[in-house]
Amino acid sequence: MITADELIALEDQHDSGLYTKQPLILVRGEGARLWDADGREYIDCVGGHGVANVGHANPAVIRAVTEQVRRLVICPSGFYNDQRAQLLAELTRIAPPGLERAFLCNSGAEAVEAALKFARLSTGRTKVVAAMRGFHGRTFGALSATWRKQYRQPFEPLVPGFHFVPYNRLERMRQALDEETAAVILEVVQGEGGVIPGDGEYLRGVQALCRERGVLFIVDEVQTGFGRTGRMFASQHHDLRPDLMCVAKSIAGGLPMGAVLIGSRVGELPKKVHGSTFGGNPLACAAALATIAYIEAEGLPQRAAELGERLISGLQAIPSPLVRDVRGLGLMVGMELKGKVAPYLAALAERGVLALSAGATVMRFLPPLVISAEDVDTVVEQVAAVLS
Ligand SMILES: *Cc1c(COP(=O)(O)O)cnc(C)c1O
Repeated sequence: MITADELIALEDQHDSGLYTKQPLILVRGEGARLWDADGREYIDCVGGHGVANVGHANPAVIRAVTEQVRRLVICPSGFYNDQRAQLLAELTRIAPPGLERAFLCNSGAEAVEAALKFARLSTGRTKVVAAMRGFHGRTFGALSATWRKQYRQPFEPLVPGFHFVPYNRLERMRQALDEETAAVILEVVQGEGGVIPGDGEYLRGVQALCRERGVLFIVDEVQTGFGRTGRMFASQHHDLRPDLMCVAKSIAGGLPMGAVLIGSRVGELPKKVHGSTFGGNPLACAAALATIAYIEAEGLPQRAAELGERLISGLQAIPSPLVRDVRGLGLMVGMELKGKVAPYLAALAERGVLALSAGATVMRFLPPLVISAEDVDTVVEQVAAVLS
């Protein structure tokens, strides 16, 4: 049998080398728990970077996927499909009002690419305004809307016409919009940028400015969607009605999928100008249908709201001089330290809790929304222990 050391050596030898890795081989998951190759158990606050909202090995997703994989896995979008039709109806039903259509794809970056292309098509304009500390993905278009210099600089020149303004500062947004602006793209809670919740008045103000100036309002809910923040979509906390809404990550219970929901201000999209081979495939659609049904039946948004408060107040009560701030919305929680988080994340893993970072100094918690209250309390205890 192949040993753990051999597996790590194989992956180090043949993987792209783009990732810094924890020395852990994860082989199994259930709910909010993960197991490594040695059978050690962990409470998962990484959640596949916000993908595992309905929990690992979710029984409803397993059932839907195993049934669908026997029936039909791929059906090009030039044909109709039973799973796709139902998913499109479900997605537009649960979305903020006015998003009546959707384009299906396979990831968050693809959803952002599509939204940017649709905005240019629809407006005939080219400029895009994005936020400092925003993250929208790593393909050229999505990367052009992403703030972090380390991600952008090695690949310049990027797509022209992108401008950045400070987040949560309405006046700066007002100054940035002009007759050439096709779209504004924002997260409702900035994720990778450090778990920074958007202010409701700011977000509604940006939306109103967009309406006034003929600019499309793109909301990136790739990380905040599907119950994560305590509502089905974070936009619903603030009564936002985006013209384009990007989703992905947890949409299909762990399978790769993305989507752009499209509002009436976008207008008709011409035939054949965009598309995707795997987009809207019946397997992902069946998984997404099961995921949405499970989120609603189990009341996961409400659960995220309650357990998020429990986690935030637990972390806030830790009396450590190392902590600068604890913030979040629902079960999207960040703890900003005065120094780097990497050593504390490693120490947490030693103690059976996996969490991730958001930038160098923010510890981020994105557990499956099915996590138990006891596990949330254990996470708080272990964070307190590593900080003491
Ligand atoms: C993760 C993320 C993306 C990119 O999604 P991928 O599936 O990794 O391409 C885009 N926007 C936000 C807000 C994200 O959190």
